[in-house]
This record gives sequence, C-alpha cells and structure tokens, in this order.
Amino acid sequence: MGYRFAPVNRRQIYRLRAAASGREALAAVEPGTVYTDRETGEELRPITRTLPLAPSQSSLLRTPENLRICRRCDQLIGLDVSDCPYCGLRQPALDGGS
Ligand SMILES: [Zn+2]
Repeated sequence: MGYRFAPVNRRQIYRLRAAASGREALAAVEPGTVYTDRETGEELRPITRTLPLAPSQSSLLRTPENLRICRRCDQLIGLDVSDCPYCGLRQPALDGGS
C-alpha cells in the first residue's frame, strides 16, 4: 500500500482475485464498487494494478473483457491469441469451460 502513480490512464486496470477459487479477472475498478466473478458469483478483490498498456503495442483496442493473464509470465494477452506472445505458453481454449 502507499503506492502513488501519476494518473496516466483514466481507467486503471486492476487484477482481481476470488479468494476461494483463485480465479482472476481484470477490470477497471472504481472505488466503492464490488466486483463478482461472472461464472461463480464470488466476490473479486483487487490484488494489484496492471501496468498501463503501451498504446504503440497494438492498434487494437484492448478492453478488460478482451484480456486475460498468462499463467506463466503474468503478462496481459488478448483472449483471441492461442499462444502467449511473451513466453509462448499455450493458452487454454475459452469455450467449454475450464
Ligand atoms: Zn506468457
């Protein structure tokens, strides 16, 4: 706690985690708002901020709904990529559950 960042992005993206299941999500957290996992209904608590995405990295607009976190290298990657562009880890298919 006690970190101070210059407000570079209007919507700061946080990693959220559900304590019981360990499921993680990304969301632009606003103070006083409770976030719940879409599938399990668990409360998600912010655990860390993500770094702002470099605008030059891609011309595609990446919204939190279109991102996930690589389990190996913790980088934000698009939902539509099958392999992590940072470490090459094969990403699990989205459809069909876990
Ligand atoms: Zn990776």
